[in-house]
Amino acid sequence: MQHATSHLMRAYARQPISFARGSGARLWDEHGVEYLDAIAGVAVTSLGHAHPEIAAAIAEQSGLLLHTSNVFRIDWQERLGERLCALTSMQRAFFCNSGAEANETALKLARLHGHRRQVAQPQILVMENGFHGRTLATLSATGNPAKQQGFEPLMPGFLRVPYDDIEAVRRAADQSPDIVAVLIEPVQGEGGIRVASADYLRELRVLCDQRGWLLMLDEIQAGMGRTGAWFGHQHAGITPDVMTLAKALGNGFPIGACLARGEVADLFSPGQHGSTFGGNPLACRVGCAVLDIMVRDDMPQRAAVLGARLLTGLQQALGNHPNVLAIRGQGLMAGIELDRSCKELVRRALEEQRLLITVTRDTTIRLLPPLICDEAQIDDMVARVARLLASNTVDRPVTAAQAEPAT
Ligand SMILES: *Cc1c(COP(=O)(O)O)cnc(C)c1O
Repeated sequence: MQHATSHLMRAYARQPISFARGSGARLWDEHGVEYLDAIAGVAVTSLGHAHPEIAAAIAEQSGLLLHTSNVFRIDWQERLGERLCALTSMQRAFFCNSGAEANETALKLARLHGHRRQVAQPQILVMENGFHGRTLATLSATGNPAKQQGFEPLMPGFLRVPYDDIEAVRRAADQSPDIVAVLIEPVQGEGGIRVASADYLRELRVLCDQRGWLLMLDEIQAGMGRTGAWFGHQHAGITPDVMTLAKALGNGFPIGACLARGEVADLFSPGQHGSTFGGNPLACRVGCAVLDIMVRDDMPQRAAVLGARLLTGLQQALGNHPNVLAIRGQGLMAGIELDRSCKELVRRALEEQRLLITVTRDTTIRLLPPLICDEAQIDDMVARVARLLASNTVDRPVTAAQAEPAT
């Protein structure tokens, strides 16, 4: 079906494989060949492919009601908002359709917050290597010049500091009185699986309180149980003012959410923000079904246990590999940083190991297995990655066509 791609914009460097169906952590291509999924659609299908309860919720709701618009009260939206707030000690939710839109919502709240404090040109502190999306505002917040190039002028209103460096934040605070908020991932996903230290996040919370800044956590990749807690920031025992979700919240059905507490939860007045599809009955019912399953089966705990197994396994298998610089992770987010470009490994993992992986930041293999994996599947992933790197061919030349996975 290669011909069909010629009518698509060339925004993605795609692998020459198309999957026809899936079940849990397994996928089958159009020729019936079976693969093991160690990326879950880039942290989206955390409950695995074709989950029967999600499928049933979609089927039933699609026969009842898909969309009425936000002109009306939407019962499933209110339920999902209530349930997410209960999990996070947030107070109000705004629903949209993607991660970038959730972050746009957070950025708009930060500007309202700034203007309320009489800051005419409010600045938002963002991080080197951060990733927040592809819309113009979220691209401007993203700390990756390669992704920004060609799309200038970028949106003003962002100041960037190194990640996990509280002194850098203090210096920025002293130099820039117009800062009103910080937007940060608790674990940088696209940035190469970098985990912010708990102390750093706690100090950031204190600084935000002292300065009257909003602490805005982008939990789009790390949230929903993946790191071994419901949300990545919970490892540090802090509570943000704003947090954004998407990816695993719909297990593949598009949905995003921006949650807030305190004054900022009441900043929007009617007409100031909106989304036609955002919070529709189908998406929100799927979100509720995802939460039902994740709560019932204690998915965060499962991710913690499986994640420890994954990291230990990778360290045992690859800790002494001559090309491996570092193995990092938290829960079921794992990164293996190599001493060279390794984009080519995505294709080779598919061909040689029937394994789905991604490579981010050119040199880091990223594993984001579904949370429903069993232990044997985790061990199998480790074994396949080890075989992939054992073939002593990581230094094969990189072809231009193998670009970063698109998220
Ligand atoms: C994927 C991702 C986004 C963007 O989400 P989209 O749904 O692709 O717009 C934003 N922030 C983080 C941390 C992400 O991982």
